[in-house]
Amino acid sequence: MTVRDMLSIGHPVLRKTARPLDPDEVAGGGVQRLIDDLVDTMRAADGAGLAATQVGEAVQVCVVEVRPGNPRYPYKPAIPLTVLVNPVVTPRTTETFANYEGCLSVPGLRRVVDRFVDGGVQALDRHGESLDLVVLGLSAGTFQHETDHLHGRLFVDRVVDTRSLCTWDEFRLRHEAAFTERARALVDRFGS
Ligand code: ZN
Repeated sequence: MTVRDMLSIGHPVLRKTARPLDPDEVAGGGVQRLIDDLVDTMRAADGAGLAATQVGEAVQVCVVEVRPGNPRYPYKPAIPLTVLVNPVVTPRTTETFANYEGCLSVPGLRRVVDRFVDGGVQALDRHGESLDLVVLGLSAGTFQHETDHLHGRLFVDRVVDTRSLCTWDEFRLRHEAAFTERARALVDRFGS
């Protein structure tokens, strides 16, 4: 198990557009190790996802996983471990929801961000095979957040209301209950 150091906002690699990988590159030892490290690092930090740029590698690889009872995001429904190489998210609706997001590379802060409630994800998996997913509801926000990382975008760039910026402690104290209600309604509607 290898837990890598994570970069924080202000580091230039987080602002890079990551390089897409050739399908035959994916099977290589370097990429396979990077994927394993991303999974270990995400799990060690209780993240819901992690992108290669966050550990200093500007290649188009990210992982998403929400295990039940995640302490950072107790309201998020489970998402099985998903490895995405060269992911492209395409909205399938104009409808959005106000997601209260955090990020391991933006320590201590959260903010409301608009995310599409329904999208398609095209990518390669860790074996270089095509992956075609539909992502819905609250989980759709998680996939959009990770894919943004691979284009040098952080959630703080996608502003809905700048005054929604808050610390994790203030979120827990003042906003989490109301947000959990909204999140539950979304999960009831979409099943994810
Ligand atoms: Zn992030």
